[in-house]
Amino acid sequence: VHAGIEPDSAAGAILPPIYQSTTFVPEEVGRDKGFDYTRAANPTRQILEEHLAALDGGRHGVLFGSGMAAVDAIFRRLVPGDHVVSSKDVYGGVFRYFERILAKGGIDIDYVDSASPQAVRKALRPNTRILWIETPSNPLLTLTDVEAMAAIAREAGIILAVDSTFATPMYLRPLEMGADIVMHSTTKYLSGHNHVVGGVLITSCDDLAKQLRFIQKVVGAVPSPIDCWLTLLGTRTLHLRMSRHSENAQAVAEFLQGHPKVERVLWPGLPSHPQYALACKGMSGFSGMLSFELAGGIESGRILMNGLSLVRLAESLGAVESMITHPATMTHVDVPSAERRARGLSDGLVRLSVGIEDARDIIRDLEGALARIP
Ligand SMILES: *Cc1c(COP(=O)(O)O)cnc(C)c1O
Repeated sequence: VHAGIEPDSAAGAILPPIYQSTTFVPEEVGRDKGFDYTRAANPTRQILEEHLAALDGGRHGVLFGSGMAAVDAIFRRLVPGDHVVSSKDVYGGVFRYFERILAKGGIDIDYVDSASPQAVRKALRPNTRILWIETPSNPLLTLTDVEAMAAIAREAGIILAVDSTFATPMYLRPLEMGADIVMHSTTKYLSGHNHVVGGVLITSCDDLAKQLRFIQKVVGAVPSPIDCWLTLLGTRTLHLRMSRHSENAQAVAEFLQGHPKVERVLWPGLPSHPQYALACKGMSGFSGMLSFELAGGIESGRILMNGLSLVRLAESLGAVESMITHPATMTHVDVPSAERRARGLSDGLVRLSVGIEDARDIIRDLEGALARIP
């Protein structure tokens, strides 16, 4: 609620004001208050950067206009001939960025099962510069042991960056576990209301922060002051929302697990999750994202999607409303089904972002739609 936020120095406003100004006037030549032009720095943005850094236990926060712009800033440090090792199961937009943008710049990317530290160690080369992991991953909720990855990265002298969007600072503390950079799409849980797109990088390394801030200023993929302010309104209730997301996800996961039309449920807080022990060791809660597999493949998915009313068909996640996607007919409809399966996305796989409604309403909606599946 309070981290990094003090009553405003000009008027004492308890809620930081929106400095909707591109330009700041110095008192005299060479004497300003640290702001000249909003691409470089803005007071509202700076308050949110300090607030988010504090939430993750980091020293520096650097904000961007989207999660993808934040990802891009990390990899702009690389030069042709460099090598990246990435988790195999990463957010689709990150995969597209690696394949269509980064690879074109002469950078090699290898995808490994980051649940296996041996596989990660084996993939490292002398020219590897960055180890990129996403945990829990989208959409399969695979976990990666951040401490094991940090040990590998430290030994190899490379940077460990963690996409922690699903876990949020509430449930996973990558910097405290030895990561160099933590990335969040603030579009998701941090803002939390489907009202703003944004991204942030948090680090405690002064040198890295300086480089990232330079990229932020030079490239200019910055969020607007009002978007920063809207995000701040979201983050101040993060803890309340996350405990409700998590509680609801548990109730929904347990309901789905006992349902005859459901073959498998993936949620890190279920003892049946293949990495339940790692989840209990590394996370202090399990968040609101879960996936499940329907018996009956594509057709069952279609019937379920069309039978829901409270739970919305939507590709985003991490907001107050429950949202559901069926990759085989929605996000990945253009990917041939053999390739989808090779990536672990079976035809009956469904991803659910459990919202903060009354859990009984979410379950009733799912129950009704599941009953339509023959
Ligand atoms: C949404 C998301 C991103 C990309 O963030 P945008 O704000 O949409 O650019 C990256 N990683 C994960 C895990 C996400 O969910």
